[in-house]
Amino acid sequence: MLANIYFSYRSFTEELICVSEAIPSELPDEYRELSATVRDFAEQVVAPVSAQHDREHSFPYEVIAAMAELGLFGLPFPEEYGGMGGDYFALCLALEELAKVDQSVAITLEAGVSLGAMPIYRFGTEEQRQRWLPSLAAGTTLGAFGLTEPDAGSDAGRTRTAARLEGSPADGEWVINGAKQFITNSGTDITAFVTVTAVTGENERGKEISTIIVPSGTPGFTVAPPYDKVGWNASDTHGLSFDDVRVPAENLLGERGRGYANFLRILDEGRIAIAALSVGAAQGCVDEAVRYAKERQAFGTHIGGHQAIAFKIARMEARAQVARRAYYHAAALMLAGKPFKQEAAIAKLTAGEAAMDNARDATQVFGGNGFMNEYRVARHYRDSKILEIGEGTTEVQLMLIARGLGL
Ligand SMILES: Cc1cc2nc3c(=O)[nH]c(=O)nc-3n(C[C@H](O)[C@H](O)[C@H](O)COP(=O)(O)OP(=O)(O)OC[C@H]3O[C@@H](n4cnc5c(N)ncnc54)[C@H](O)[C@@H]3O)c2cc1C
Repeated sequence: MLANIYFSYRSFTEELICVSEAIPSELPDEYRELSATVRDFAEQVVAPVSAQHDREHSFPYEVIAAMAELGLFGLPFPEEYGGMGGDYFALCLALEELAKVDQSVAITLEAGVSLGAMPIYRFGTEEQRQRWLPSLAAGTTLGAFGLTEPDAGSDAGRTRTAARLEGSPADGEWVINGAKQFITNSGTDITAFVTVTAVTGENERGKEISTIIVPSGTPGFTVAPPYDKVGWNASDTHGLSFDDVRVPAENLLGERGRGYANFLRILDEGRIAIAALSVGAAQGCVDEAVRYAKERQAFGTHIGGHQAIAFKIARMEARAQVARRAYYHAAALMLAGKPFKQEAAIAKLTAGEAAMDNARDATQVFGGNGFMNEYRVARHYRDSKILEIGEGTTEVQLMLIARGLGL
């Protein structure tokens, strides 16, 4: 649907890619209704329990079940796999609304859909899709994406986890050894599997890296206790180890040797989703700051009456709007089937920085209250830092943009 908007604007502007009109109030009704529904859901169902889950570092199962009921985990998937028949932009809009209120809940959806289920949808065989997608799209199970390792993060091609095929590709087994770290949604009670990149041999380019689906509970597959994180406390993150883990040869996801390339494609898309989540965080900070600045009194007026505070919040709004346009633009290109790698990197860079900068400024607007965990802006302050790190650091985005410029 967004592709239609993209093309209609395009006809206005000849060859110019025009996104300046792509603002929330001009989106088609379905998108605006989706945003409004998720906004209400976030305030009524998510917000009341956010602080408690953050404080207790507990996974919000009841919220995830309600999101599943709403259909959020199935947004971009066709109905034949139990999805809602929407698109990736719809997912982005939902992430934006959830992240205004609670980034942990938003990242659980982002990682569940864009990193967990999407690789199965994009690269799985029909059998794999039929087996895994219906429950993933229903939100009754989660999949995790196992790329990062202790010695391979930004430079993910340094993967050391290895898998050797014993027997034939038809009825043999993969035997997997190695470790992954920082894997989202990998240890919940409803995690069905993790897809892992592993070295499966050598080819003309060096390491042959493939992707293999490892179901939860497979003997030798160990999920370490949760990390003690700075933020995203209600999201699920673990280190994983694989000690002679055996899975059927048919658990190969996508073509043998294409694992790394396929995961990079998933990360390109994922950056648009993370950018949307970051825009939500940035906008959530604006909304909170405006509300507080109208109420809080100092030196004979509300603090928003002091130009220093008003300008700070005006700059926050500008950051959020610019970043939103960046992710709309990247999403429009992706849905139109055009190259979008560089635009996704620009969106992720811009939005991650907007979230972090806005969280810092919103905390300043709140004064001492901003340093108290009970306030939403304090949670955004702790949560937002990872938006400049996860799914590719700021430096990695800059590398991608520079590469796009031929540098
Ligand atoms: C909460 C959380 C959830 C996560 N979820 C997942 C997940 O679900 N699945 C998954 O696979 N991974 C996940 N990650 C991992 C995340 O994607 C990585 O942490 C991230 O890509 C950075 O890798 P690294 O931590 O190894 O840092 P490193 O790669 O060691 O980087 C360290 C620093 O060096 C910089 N750097 C590295 N190379 C260059 C260069 N060439 N030029 C300039 N600077 C450079 C980096 O930008 C960074 O500032 C998660 C991480 C966290 C914290």
